[in-house]
Amino acid sequence: MATSDEKFYHARITKRADFAPDLWMFRIRSDGEFNFVPGQYATLGVEEGGKRIERPYSIASAPSEDEVEFFFELVPEGALTPLLYKMQAGDQLLMRKVPKGRFSLEMQNGRKNHLLISTVTGVAPFVSYVRTLYREWKEGRFDGTHKLYLLNGASRPWEFGYKDELSQFDKELPWFKYVPTVSRPWDHEDWPGEIGRADDILRKYADHWELDASNTVAYLCGHPEMIEHSKAILKRRGFTDKGAIKEEVYWVPAK
Ligand SMILES: Cc1cc2nc3c(=O)[nH]c(=O)nc-3n(C[C@H](O)[C@H](O)[C@H](O)COP(=O)(O)OP(=O)(O)OC[C@H]3O[C@@H](n4cnc5c(N)ncnc54)[C@H](O)[C@@H]3O)c2cc1C
Repeated sequence: MATSDEKFYHARITKRADFAPDLWMFRIRSDGEFNFVPGQYATLGVEEGGKRIERPYSIASAPSEDEVEFFFELVPEGALTPLLYKMQAGDQLLMRKVPKGRFSLEMQNGRKNHLLISTVTGVAPFVSYVRTLYREWKEGRFDGTHKLYLLNGASRPWEFGYKDELSQFDKELPWFKYVPTVSRPWDHEDWPGEIGRADDILRKYADHWELDASNTVAYLCGHPEMIEHSKAILKRRGFTDKGAIKEEVYWVPAK
């Protein structure tokens, strides 16, 4: 099967970094323009045995970067991630030329707070938001009146691929707060941070930061159960009107 060059870039992996045995990132360079809005996803593909296997992946980089970055989790029985997992810098993959999705920051609806809730790789679009606003802030194009509050859940401390970068942004930026939280802390006595799933600590931090439906948009990304639980909690707190909650569900849970 010849893949149509009209629809796909042949993109080269320029960097791979492994965060854990099943979590890693790629940076890729495509052979043409790829214009996206922070929060969108790219469709990546690999051809094998005459078949093209494609899946969507949130973009972690900012549009101003000269490469596109992704944060992957290996699904051992999956069709695509085991193939991506074998790839290294220098290898090529396919990327659809058109990015997709509407999981972008809502800056125009009057609510100035953005509560971002994610599990593991679901942090990727939020990394893109923060990197983008950081640059705009440095260049005087963003005045910091919109505030981002990020809760990032994982089972274990080594699953936070972007913890160092996000913690540094938290220290430096008056408009960004970052709280990583671990749900299986018992093997990690040295974990100094929050304990519980992201949806477990949601009420506490919404109260602490004074985030309510009148001043906040909530964004949920990653694990389908986290999204269901968080949505139920937020709805009970009045996040009921259209646009109060945005979501990006990464997979459909097995029945
Ligand atoms: C908009 C969007 C953005 C996404 N962004 C990312 C991203 O940034 N990083 C990323 O790693 N994935 C992301 N995903 C998930 C990704 O598209 C694939 O579904 C995932 O990588 C598994 O692909 P696969 O072909 O290996 O497994 P498949 O053959 O598609 O799936 C095998 C089984 O595993 C389930 N499954 C899929 N993903 C997981 C998971 N993480 N944990 C447990 N079970 C799972 C599926 O529902 C299916 O039952 C995103 C999905 C969507 C819809």
